[in-house]
Amino acid sequence: MPISDLSSITALINAAGSVIGLANKTNSVEANQKIIELQQRMADVQKTVAELFQENQSLKEQNHNLQDELSAESMYPMRESVRWKKGADGEGDDGPFCPTCFANGRKLMPLRFKSRMQAPGIFSFVCPEHSVVQQGMGRSTSYEIKEASLRPGRYHIPD
Ligand SMILES: [Zn+2]
Repeated sequence: MPISDLSSITALINAAGSVIGLANKTNSVEANQKIIELQQRMADVQKTVAELFQENQSLKEQNHNLQDELSAESMYPMRESVRWKKGADGEGDDGPFCPTCFANGRKLMPLRFKSRMQAPGIFSFVCPEHSVVQQGMGRSTSYEIKEASLRPGRYHIPD
């Protein structure tokens, strides 16, 4: 009989109590059979408890990772396809940071100003880690960021 819930465990404890009572009184075949049956059920319980323990461990780990993920998302929000670091109240967010580097071990890699775009108030940024164009790799990824999104003084933008 599989042990699937707490009521099965309670039933097992009750059964164990009556078998012990029986074993104390007599050395009968019936008692021996019940003891063997009880040992089998005890083994089932042991197995189930081990499985529940394992499942609990893995759920705890998943929960921990999800909590981590959630706090990273709120501390380092994604806007304009890049990562920002939440500033204290009243301050703007710091950034932009490379989304690829962030995805790779939550590395906060400040993007580097590359150029002004033709549209006014739009700057192009690149990751210093990914801006080296390797042969056959095509152009490096650049990110278009609004000037208004940048914290004043954070970047020295050439005219
Ligand atoms: Zn990067």
